Amino acid sequence: KAQSPEDLQLSENLGRITNKIVVMSGKGGVGKSTVAVNIALALALAGKKVGLLDVDVHGPSVPRLLSLSGQQAHIEKDYIEPIPWSKNLWVMSLGFLMPNRDEAVIWRGPVKTGLIRQFLQNVAWGELDFLIVDCPPGTGDEPLTIMQLLGKEAKSVIVTTPQMLAIDDVRRSITFCKRTGSQILGVVENMSGFVCPECGKRHEIFKSGAGERMAKDMSVPFLGRIPVDPELARAGDEGFAYVKVYPDSETSRVMREIVQPM
Ligand code: ADP
Repeated sequence: KAQSPEDLQLSENLGRITNKIVVMSGKGGVGKSTVAVNIALALALAGKKVGLLDVDVHGPSVPRLLSLSGQQAHIEKDYIEPIPWSKNLWVMSLGFLMPNRDEAVIWRGPVKTGLIRQFLQNVAWGELDFLIVDCPPGTGDEPLTIMQLLGKEAKSVIVTTPQMLAIDDVRRSITFCKRTGSQILGVVENMSGFVCPECGKRHEIFKSGAGERMAKDMSVPFLGRIPVDPELARAGDEGFAYVKVYPDSETSRVMREIVQPM
């Protein structure tokens, strides 16, 4: 079948990227963006060439998480330059394309779909080992568009919290990934227990272990448990690279464990 010039550009652009990892969640607020950012940082610190794409068109948070707010992407006729965070980590977000970050974005479906396509087709990612996609929560049109454009090569990481496991959202996300044909790398349980800074032991706040059981139940790998970590929250607020600043913490150890099978 003959490809349109747009499809050709999309497949050429994606063809230069070895691994496409989509970070998903059933609901907002479970730490999906935090995990996506730190996975990207962990891979970049290990020397990989990494792209980080923030697909949240309503409230892009990646620029703030990496202290890149206010940056404006350079746009040419048919390509957009991603913003460099370091010599081997590049970032793209709607936040870099809007003049005013306080402006609410009210767009209809087709416009959003077009924008997501531009992020994959027109951003000059270049040769990458990894593209980490911070996907909007849920299993609606936006995640579906991403999966369709990335194709069967997409691999997904599903982020949840111990409380969320009681809800069907996570199962729905897993079913969604299976249906789109993407490989599921596994489930991450975030905000799982609290590591006491005094004694260094992990204390369970909510009942945990449910993530691992559910993953086993649905025949998907379990990737790890990230504790509630006040410094991780501060890193998000202040925009510093947690895994770089605290390489020896339990949280960073788990982040590295998550990227291991990638
Ligand atoms: P989502 O992308 O799922 O909406 P975010 O990554 O924006 O979630 O995280 C929501 C809030 O929770 C942020 O303020 C973030 O800093 C905080 N957070 C996420 N994970 C942790 C954690 N393990 N420990 C402490 N705070 C966390």
